[in-house]
Amino acid sequence: DTVTGYYFTDKFEAYRLYRPVPYYAHKGTRGHVLVIGGSYGKTGAVHLAARAALTSGCGLVTALVPQCGYVPLQASFPEAMVLTNGETHLQEIAFALKPAAIAIGPGMGTDEETQQALHNFLFDNKIPMVVDADALNILSENLQWLELLPPKSVITPHPKELERLMGTWNDDFDKIDKLKAFSKKHSVIIVAKDARTLVVNGDAVYVNSTGNAALATGGSGDVLAGLITGLIAQQYTPADAAVFGVYLHGLSADIGVAETGTQAFTASSILHYLGRAYLQAE
Ligand code: AMP
Ligand code: MG
Repeated sequence: DTVTGYYFTDKFEAYRLYRPVPYYAHKGTRGHVLVIGGSYGKTGAVHLAARAALTSGCGLVTALVPQCGYVPLQASFPEAMVLTNGETHLQEIAFALKPAAIAIGPGMGTDEETQQALHNFLFDNKIPMVVDADALNILSENLQWLELLPPKSVITPHPKELERLMGTWNDDFDKIDKLKAFSKKHSVIIVAKDARTLVVNGDAVYVNSTGNAALATGGSGDVLAGLITGLIAQQYTPADAAVFGVYLHGLSADIGVAETGTQAFTASSILHYLGRAYLQAE
């Protein structure tokens, strides 16, 4: 990419990115998302990410989770298809479908077998990916595996995960320099999540304008990962999906908080208000 400089994602920029669903769309053309993750006690993270993908407007969603997540997901999320592997954690990551985009990591755990499964999967996979949570924690311990990601994969670390990946930083300028270097070295788009989230694609830095402290709640990041993946499946470029997804995620919280206040807002509320965020972007 030759884009450099700083960009501020305001409502005009979001409107420019927004792409309405075509009149003749059918579920097969709106993109199929696969969400890979979950472990005993953490399959809700996959539920949130998968629901976010579908709520973003993609056509179909499949979750690949360990057996312990099968009944909970099928019973609480009828729109989703579910594949399983392993009992309490993923032992192998394999599937006979061709999703348009993959989210990997939410609730996945870092079991030794899961780490090996992730490595084998990355070795074969060429499908666009959003890498989050425990998948990032595993990559932090095996930085050379980053080279296996398809170019322009999106990684979505929160501050602690970012520190594990690229070490600590002195100030915001240093952080941005390190993000650019990391993005270029590994050909990844970084969504550096924080109260003011940055999306870094090579030398281009996108500063988000939406969101508030109601997002400081469990599951919020899982929703973002699913949302960005859903946009990629709908043919947004990974960079546009990252910028627009972060904007919508924050706007949803801004709209929700105006209605319900900060305290009662949870990760599921982001999904509840996402439709209204889209309406404002139209
Ligand atoms: P995670 O820690 O993975 O659940 O991700 C948290 C999500 O919530 C990220 O998208 C953050 O940018 C967002 N978030 C967390 N705290 C705040 C805050 N104080 N203000 C705005 N956004 C936040
Ligand atoms: Mg997270």
